[in-house]
Amino acid sequence: MILQPRSVFAIITLACLFSPLSAALGQGADWSEQDLAAAAALRDKALAGTRAFEHVGSLVTEVGPRSAGSAGDAAAVRWALNRLGSLGFSHVHTQDVLVPHWVRGTAEVSIVAPFPQTLVSLALGGSIGTVADGIEAQVVRATSLEALSTMSPASIKDKIVFIDERMQRARDGSGYSATVRNRGMGASVAANLGAVAIVIRSVGTSDERIAHTGSVRYSTDAPRIPAFSISNPDADVLARQVQAGKPVRVRVKSTARELPPAWSANVIGEIPGRDRAQEIVVLGAHLDSWDPGYGAIDDGAGVAIVTEAARLISKLDRQPSRTIRVVLFANEEFGTSGAREYLRLAGDDVSKHVLAMEADLGTGPVWRLQSRVAPDALPAIASMQSVLAPLNIAPGDNNGSPGSDVHPLMDAGVPILDLSLDATNYFDVHHTVNDTLAKVDAKSLDQSVAAFAVAAYLAATKQGDFGRVTAEPAKN
Ligand code: ZN
Ligand code: ZN
Repeated sequence: MILQPRSVFAIITLACLFSPLSAALGQGADWSEQDLAAAAALRDKALAGTRAFEHVGSLVTEVGPRSAGSAGDAAAVRWALNRLGSLGFSHVHTQDVLVPHWVRGTAEVSIVAPFPQTLVSLALGGSIGTVADGIEAQVVRATSLEALSTMSPASIKDKIVFIDERMQRARDGSGYSATVRNRGMGASVAANLGAVAIVIRSVGTSDERIAHTGSVRYSTDAPRIPAFSISNPDADVLARQVQAGKPVRVRVKSTARELPPAWSANVIGEIPGRDRAQEIVVLGAHLDSWDPGYGAIDDGAGVAIVTEAARLISKLDRQPSRTIRVVLFANEEFGTSGAREYLRLAGDDVSKHVLAMEADLGTGPVWRLQSRVAPDALPAIASMQSVLAPLNIAPGDNNGSPGSDVHPLMDAGVPILDLSLDATNYFDVHHTVNDTLAKVDAKSLDQSVAAFAVAAYLAATKQGDFGRVTAEPAKN
């Protein structure tokens, strides 16, 4: 039905008149009782069991590792097209994205003196390789990036820098944001002080002898030096030798190299809206992964959560008013080129994006609902939380932060939901050889699907929108 301007005005007036009463009665202003009942039924159905584990199992088994530009990456795009198509999504299509193509090669980090040891290591993503014989130099230990940046060039010149900062375990993943700068920026800070290579304690919480990879971000104003991570137990050994006071010499060697950029793609599928189909609710996750493991939790789990949440909604008798769009982004790990291309192609249609959310912090369960919406929409978020409360999801604040793929949309003004996945154990396997299907908990995955499905359904049926937001202030 197309409303005439006069009747729109009449409805707005009525809504204003009755909103205090509706608020007193509960959530009437934002959703019909029918929609709220449908959301609760959706929640309970998902909690009883979903196909999410089947999706991630298929991705792991049929594709496996899929770092940007690799053959696995191309296979993942084909897999996602097939998966969304066979699950009955509409308008399944790709957006071509140019991505970096880095090849890991080998990595060796060993202590040469005073007590020779071979350390478990990985090259950091994007690192340059070494000369064929490797690089041997004395080690200088820094306890953080800040500590390193205050050290004198004379103490660093021609040395190998070792950043030795341990990531703290936390349900909200805050230990990661506190230490990931070591991995991203350490190499360029060290290089500007004259270092010849850098080795960091893994940005991860595992006490096993597994190194955590992840991307290095070389600054344009610094020489590029080879960058490695070593496992937490191996970092302990290196730290103890350095702290004993004798000069410690380390040898690093890698055949990592950069190939010409390659084509990948965002893969998109939709559940069309009933009567406001041009308005979009985005459910995002990323299709690429790091290469040491299978990419089961990062981000196979997220792909499974958002795909299954949308699929369950598509099976409802009453379709939501707005369109739900699943976006499986290309290349999150190596600079979010898929997310940036999505935003560029959206152009003016960004204004039609009503809300966005993303799953990229493991298998869950979801434990908190954060948001970043216009203040007027906060009562609606409270109503949404009350539907999620039986899933043990607590209210959060309005300073939520989405994953990195939805961030560009938020920066462009799109409101977001931050359904906080429990990250307590996530960083034990993140970016390691242990990122396997064995680490995916099917029950947690089902709870996460329930949460995302409810949030997406309510966002796609809400009477008004969630306003617009201003960009998040920079954190560091
Ligand atoms: Zn991820
Ligand atoms: Zn990752």
